[in-house]
Amino acid sequence: MSVVAAAEDLDAAIEPIREKLAAYRAAGKRMFATSSFQSHSLPLLHILSRLDNSIPVYFTNTGFLFPETLAFADSIAEEFGIRIIGLKPLVPKIHQLDHHGHLYFASDPDYCCFLNKVQPLEPVLMSHDVWINGIRGEQIDHRKAMREEERAPHGALRYHPMLNWTARMIHAYGKRYRLRPHPLEAAGYLSIGCEPCTTKFLGDGNERNSRWFGMNKTECGLHTELVRK
Ligand code: SF4
Repeated sequence: MSVVAAAEDLDAAIEPIREKLAAYRAAGKRMFATSSFQSHSLPLLHILSRLDNSIPVYFTNTGFLFPETLAFADSIAEEFGIRIIGLKPLVPKIHQLDHHGHLYFASDPDYCCFLNKVQPLEPVLMSHDVWINGIRGEQIDHRKAMREEERAPHGALRYHPMLNWTARMIHAYGKRYRLRPHPLEAAGYLSIGCEPCTTKFLGDGNERNSRWFGMNKTECGLHTELVRK
């Protein structure tokens, strides 16, 4: 797909998002978005900023993020004119220690993700109707099986506008609007989460493999635990 051809495809892919947001708005739905502020997250944020920048974007500072991610989130919010609302874990780190006195990310990363990523979002789900997030089907098998709309806890709805976007479309969108990459990309990081659980791109074709390297874990729980069938 050339970038010129992709531009037309991109317009066609954005139109349903415009229509969906308008329908939610007309129905009085209270919407919010979440973002990890990685390079590939920016097209969705940019689209939302152009379609409806009143939608708040929740961003959880787990306490383990790279300082570059925090600074990047602030600068993107200013550049796009979006409103970020910071979330923090409800349980202080002093109460996040395993029986050896170590933080959970090494001994029980699922519980660590629950405390630092999943639990902080629960009150937001309770106070909103629609959660917009940027998962894409091609990222990992589990996401391929998801639908554009899914039920979330507390009666909320998940909306996945980027579900069928390919890496090529993400790249073409970024190129079209000259979106800046996350600053750690230049240092070899392509999938960037918490510092203890992120390694540089391994060059094996799947950038998600650089998360939780060596552990039997591929998801933080936001897209597994916060789904209701
Ligand atoms: S990604 Fe790692 S450090 Fe971050 S919440 Fe999950 S287990 Fe903890």
